[in-house]
Amino acid sequence: MRDDNLLATRLNQIWQMLFPEVERKNNIIIRFKGRWKNKFGHIKLLRSKETEIAVNSHFKNEAIPEYLIDITIAHELVHYMHGFNSPLERRFKHPHKGNIVNRELIARGFGSMLKKEKEFIKNEWHGFIKNNHKEKNFSRNPFTIRKFFKSLMQN
Ligand SMILES: [Zn+2]
Repeated sequence: MRDDNLLATRLNQIWQMLFPEVERKNNIIIRFKGRWKNKFGHIKLLRSKETEIAVNSHFKNEAIPEYLIDITIAHELVHYMHGFNSPLERRFKHPHKGNIVNRELIARGFGSMLKKEKEFIKNEWHGFIKNNHKEKNFSRNPFTIRKFFKSLMQN
């Protein structure tokens, strides 16, 4: 099982290699949290002024390819650099408008990973959730790929 130390290591590596000029202005707590079927992660400014980056706890499962963890961390890091839930100056009005996150990710070399992520969501996420996501009223709240992409654009 993957643990929070792995997340901290990946965050530091991704930051150093691919976001070297972005200033780390506060303490960042990164951890597995939640067991979401409609989002992969989030970033939050805590009352302590620390930033929390959460990665879907389903990703602890070794069946989830590791690049999904990397792309999720990188996605939240882009929000951080854009000044969302971070002490850095806010550069945009909305965190996702105009595809700004993916454009930044592509500029930083994540283009092929984004494609793989899209393929994974289309072909494998639903099956994974069906087998691993225990929830009573799952059928009343069915998973659809469209819904997933919509929600991904909000987190
Ligand atoms: Zn986002």
